[in-house]
Amino acid sequence: MAPNTSPDKSRNAALFERARKLIPGGVNSPVRAFKAVGGTPRFVQRAQGAYFWDADGQRYIDYIGSWGPMILGHGHPAVVEAVQKAVLEGFSYGAPTEREVELAEEIVKLVPSIEMLRLVSSGTEAGMSAIRLARGATGRSKIIKFEGCYHGHADALLVKAGSGLATFGNPTSAGVPPEVVQHTLVLEYNHIAQLEEAFAIHGSSTACLIIEPIAGNMNFVRASVPFMKRCRELCTQHGALLVFDEVMTGFRVALGGAQSVYAKSIPGFQPDMTVMGKVIGGGMPLAAFGGTRAVMEQLAPQGPVYQAGTLSGNPVATACGLATLKEIGKPGFYEDLGHKTQRLISGLQAEADKAGVDFCGDSEGGMFGFFLLKELPQNYAKVMTTDNARFNTLFHGLLDRGIYIAPALYEAGFMSAAHTDADIAETVAAAGDVFKLLSK
Ligand code: PLP
Repeated sequence: MAPNTSPDKSRNAALFERARKLIPGGVNSPVRAFKAVGGTPRFVQRAQGAYFWDADGQRYIDYIGSWGPMILGHGHPAVVEAVQKAVLEGFSYGAPTEREVELAEEIVKLVPSIEMLRLVSSGTEAGMSAIRLARGATGRSKIIKFEGCYHGHADALLVKAGSGLATFGNPTSAGVPPEVVQHTLVLEYNHIAQLEEAFAIHGSSTACLIIEPIAGNMNFVRASVPFMKRCRELCTQHGALLVFDEVMTGFRVALGGAQSVYAKSIPGFQPDMTVMGKVIGGGMPLAAFGGTRAVMEQLAPQGPVYQAGTLSGNPVATACGLATLKEIGKPGFYEDLGHKTQRLISGLQAEADKAGVDFCGDSEGGMFGFFLLKELPQNYAKVMTTDNARFNTLFHGLLDRGIYIAPALYEAGFMSAAHTDADIAETVAAAGDVFKLLSK
């Protein structure tokens, strides 16, 4: 594909200018604004399969897929048909539907740790509700999270580490009072000794530990098996709930989510609660949180923990989610997706090696990450040692060649079933060109 011409004075630029007058930063979610990489965000006009087209008619191979949900690619015919049919039956009722029950049954079938669940509309809502429920079910206030993991923008989770294990977090956003994060302890990802120390001090007052098992909000960093094993053991020992945030990894890295990946190495492994989103909605606003019956029965109207939503279990969103789950449940789906993702990463590695550029990557199922570093980082601080300017050169070099990756070095990438070998070859060749620039 021919390189793009400069986006200046383009329709993208004109739209961005208009947007900025009315929408803070011109976007409805911050990372879309290209603030980390500079330049003009692409305004999407339409998408199909592995591609989207921007307002200037430029086609991109899309490795974001709406930040994860579009695992089948855009506009999968079976999903479009299900959504069209659902729309004709009504957009929203505020009363229960059979489809909500079907979706709950499907999720419970695929994720053995989940005995009951509730549907909501966003990952933020699911994470926030899961934490309230964990606190309500245990009668404890403290929560443990890890630096570099994102669980949505609920106040108590917008927090960075305090100055030691005895002091709790500090807000990372204006508008979050320090008192609201005073029960949130932020620890280093993959740091077993620190985790043990934290539980020794705070274990008996900790409601839950929430973790992205494969962290996709610091690019792509796996929790090591020994670390995850210790998380499970310490939660059990201290009566805290282990909450897996699988908003990104759920139905993305494997049909049973990241928990099924860890269960292969840790016999009998299960979290107590799971937070889900993205793929279960197939691109529509739908998320969920679920867990053991004993915990979930604490939710209103059955139990004392309040949670509600006007659009929860929306009939169009559930139709989209169900149709998506049906496709990804077909035999061989994850094998194909996983091999394709591995081929992308190994192709990029080969090109980087050829150019003599430091590079490493990793993937699981249809989720991947890569770093302009010699070795895969194990925590947020290491991820952030990546040279920003070099990443920005890579990002813009790929964008100019019609390849759309996340516009920030701390974000994961997503493969879809619609990506072809030709798309991967085109991506690898484009990256080869850019690596040559980086090697100079
Ligand atoms: N948890 C994780 C792991 C996520 O990646 C995200 C969003 O990217 C969220 C929670 C929040 O989900 P949402 O953006 O739907 O509110």
